[in-house]
Amino acid sequence: MIAGGHAATIGAEYFLHKCQSLTGIVMGEGEETIVDLVKKYSAGDSIYKVPGFYARDGFVKRSLEPIDTLSFPERDELEIILRQERSIKEAYVSTTRGCHNACSFCSIPPYYKLAHGPSWRERSVERVCSELESLLSNYPQIESVSFVDDNFLGFKTNHQERGLAIAKRLHELNRNIVFEITCRVDSVDHHLFSKLAEYGLSGVYLGIESGVQRILNLFRKNTTVENNLRAIDTIAGLGIGCDIGFIMFCPTITLDEVKENLLFLKSIIEKYGLYVHPATVFRNLKTYPTDLGLSALDLSEDSDQIPKSRALPHPTRPQLCPYLLHHKTLPLSTRLI
Ligand code: SF4
Repeated sequence: MIAGGHAATIGAEYFLHKCQSLTGIVMGEGEETIVDLVKKYSAGDSIYKVPGFYARDGFVKRSLEPIDTLSFPERDELEIILRQERSIKEAYVSTTRGCHNACSFCSIPPYYKLAHGPSWRERSVERVCSELESLLSNYPQIESVSFVDDNFLGFKTNHQERGLAIAKRLHELNRNIVFEITCRVDSVDHHLFSKLAEYGLSGVYLGIESGVQRILNLFRKNTTVENNLRAIDTIAGLGIGCDIGFIMFCPTITLDEVKENLLFLKSIIEKYGLYVHPATVFRNLKTYPTDLGLSALDLSEDSDQIPKSRALPHPTRPQLCPYLLHHKTLPLSTRLI
């Protein structure tokens, strides 16, 4: 049995410790690793030295190919999903991976760093549009496309132009289709978003995280409370839906700052009617335990059972489980609310 994905990659040691029947973890992006694992396994060969696979006795790094060389995803189940009674017939498309920022709580940078490439990688406009064409021709009932990228608009002008070109092509393929994206607040520009709205942008997910400037700095968001408000105001002013991610608690937050967060949320919910996603906090070396002068293990009830000798041969050494912190904050938030 193997595991993969963000939680398993960041918490590889924890997963292997807690689940003895796990053979290993596919670290980071798994498309190539999983194929190699299946080939080796089917041939009766050992799977333990497959690059990208973190087994109990070691880890061999894998250098990944550019994402443009990956084949389009198999959408065997989409027909069934689209037949279900849902408010909207939606398909997911991935056009980029990673993020240029390195927020201290976020799993995206350490996860995609395993690819040994740039922190933000994009598929070409041609390749994405070719997938969209194939998708819409095979599933004409689709009404909405959700671009599942962590940062659809990247961080440079040409990245924004790329996003705009993809949106324009989608609109040309079907003028009734709407789409959703996730981006950083510093990408939110009135002119750009007016064009995106013209092409069918119906929803934006923004990682706002906090209404307290000290916490934003601690999280290394590289933005301000004012910028967050400006981005929400621009999006809402254009009639585009906006959901936000928010981290109410972190270990060093004060009660006054929690109140500031609550007032911030109350004001934007009342003004804009936003949906707020409580973010799951991934423990990260840069923010949590070191700021408290604690080790990671201090946050876990059973952490002393975790063998301390095993170390991932990776510079950022992703480790331990996000849920430990989550479980600690939940009773506190319940009491305050
Ligand atoms: S901007 Fe968003 S995706 Fe990028 S590192 Fe920060 S939280 Fe993660």
